[in-house]
Amino acid sequence: MTQIQLLSFPHCNLTPPNLTSSPQVFTSFSSRQLAELVGNQHFPSWSFNSLKRVSKFQTSLRKCGGLVRVRCGLVEDESVDDGFYMRRCVELARRAIGCTSPNPMVGCVIVKDGKIVGEGFHPKAGQPHAEVFALRNAGNLAENATAYVSLEPCNHYGRTPPCTEALIKAKVKRVVVGMVDPNPIVASKGVDRLRDAGINVTVGVEEKLCKRLNEAYIHQMLTGKPFVTLRYSLSVNGHLLDQLGDGVTQTGGYYSKLLQEYDAIILSASLTEKFSSPTSQEPGANQPLQIVIASNPGQLPAPSKEASKIIIFSDKEVATEADLAQKGIDAVNLDRINLTSILEYCKRQGFCSILLDLRGSFGDLEELLRESIEQNVLQKIVLEVLPFWDESNGGVSLVALNSLVKRLEVKNLQSMISTQSIVLEGYLQHR
Ligand SMILES: [Zn+2]
Repeated sequence: MTQIQLLSFPHCNLTPPNLTSSPQVFTSFSSRQLAELVGNQHFPSWSFNSLKRVSKFQTSLRKCGGLVRVRCGLVEDESVDDGFYMRRCVELARRAIGCTSPNPMVGCVIVKDGKIVGEGFHPKAGQPHAEVFALRNAGNLAENATAYVSLEPCNHYGRTPPCTEALIKAKVKRVVVGMVDPNPIVASKGVDRLRDAGINVTVGVEEKLCKRLNEAYIHQMLTGKPFVTLRYSLSVNGHLLDQLGDGVTQTGGYYSKLLQEYDAIILSASLTEKFSSPTSQEPGANQPLQIVIASNPGQLPAPSKEASKIIIFSDKEVATEADLAQKGIDAVNLDRINLTSILEYCKRQGFCSILLDLRGSFGDLEELLRESIEQNVLQKIVLEVLPFWDESNGGVSLVALNSLVKRLEVKNLQSMISTQSIVLEGYLQHR
C-alpha cells in the first residue's frame, strides 16, 4: 500500500483547524509558490530546513503543485514518520505567528494507522492549547493513536486545564514531543506525568526546528528578558542605509514577514513622521506595538490604519496630551532615553520579542544600540544588503559606537534572497 502526503505551505490563518470528513489531510500549494519556496524567496529558515529534511525521504516528486512524500507501508520506519509529523506540528503552530505571546506557538497532530486524524494549534494566550484542538478534532480516533506536539504538554492548571490529563483521558498510546518546555513550572513534568500514566513518550524530534520556532519564548523563559533583534540595511560598499529594498515590505517580503514575528518594534520618530507606520502585509498579520523614539519636540508619528498601538518614548515633551490622545498615542517621558526602561516596559506588557529597526534618523537610535551591545542585550541580527554602491553621505557612521571595543561572534549565519536584496540573519554569541 502506498500513501502520499503533501507538505502544505505555511500561512497565517487563525481559524482553529477544522478537517473535512476525510481524516487524511491533503494540502497543496501552487507551482508558483513552490518555485518561490525552492528559490529561497520565502524567508523563514525553518521552512528550508524542513524541506531539506523531507527531501531526504522523498522518492518521487510529481507535477501536481506540491511536494510529495511517498511511503511504503511494508518498510515504514517510525523515526522517519516522527520527523514528518513534527514538521507538520511546527507548520500548524506558525499559523498563530505573532499572536501567542507571552505563550509559545505550539502545534499538535494526532496520527492513527499512518493517517492524520486530528490537528490543532494554540491560537492565542487564554485560548485552549494545541493538544485540546487536535484531540477534539480526532474525537474517538485518538484512542491508541500517537500524538505529536512541538512543545512538551503542560501539566499544570493555568488558564486552561493541563494537556497531559487531556491526552491521558483520550487514551493515546504514544506521545512524541519536539522539545521540553523551558518554563520551570512545566520542565519535564509533563513528560513524567505521561510516562507515569503508562504512555510511551519520545522527546527531542526535530528539536532544532521546534527551538527556532519559539526562540523568543525560550529566551524569555531562561533569562527573564525579551529577545531583541537588530535589523539594518547596508549598501554593497558597507554603508548604513536608511532604506529598504524594493518589494521587501510587500506580502512575502522578508521585512513584511519580520514585522509579523515581533511583539514590538523600536523605531525612530523621524521615520514615522515622514511615512505612515510600517506594517506587515502578511494575510491576517498581528501588527507589532510600535515604540517610537522621539528626540525632538513636535515629532509625532502618523499612525496608519493597520498599525497597532503606538507608544512614544522621549526625554522631552513631544506634544500636548490632547494631540497625542487625538491620535490614540501613549507617551512615556524619561529623564534619558535608555534601553533598560524600554525593555522593562515591554516585559510588563508580556512581550517576548522586540525588533530594533535601524531606520529613520540613526541619531535617535544609536544610544540604544550602543547600550544593547554593551549590555549584551542583542540576541539576533537581520541585515539586508541592497544591490547598489552608495557614497552619497560619505558613509553614515554611528558616533556612539566609535568608542565601543567589542568583538562578538555570530552563530548560524544564514543568507536568503528577498526580491533583489540579500538578507543575512544570525545569532550573537555572548560570553
Ligand atoms: Zn497545555
